[in-house]
Amino acid sequence: MIEYFFTCPYCWERISMLLDEEMERNYIEDCEVCCRPIEIECKLAGERVLFFNARPIEGIK
Ligand SMILES: [Zn+2]
Repeated sequence: MIEYFFTCPYCWERISMLLDEEMERNYIEDCEVCCRPIEIECKLAGERVLFFNARPIEGIK
């Protein structure tokens, strides 16, 4: 498991999540601060994060 830090696209808090090599590349994760769903797209090579993108799946109010 890799702990990866990124900025929530809703509340701009810095949050972390655990990435698993076995995880699918696209999935939904709730922000631990504002609890809104974030669409995560990532690509891993073993322990390395090659690509990571977090975007909102609902309109930002
Ligand atoms: Zn948030």
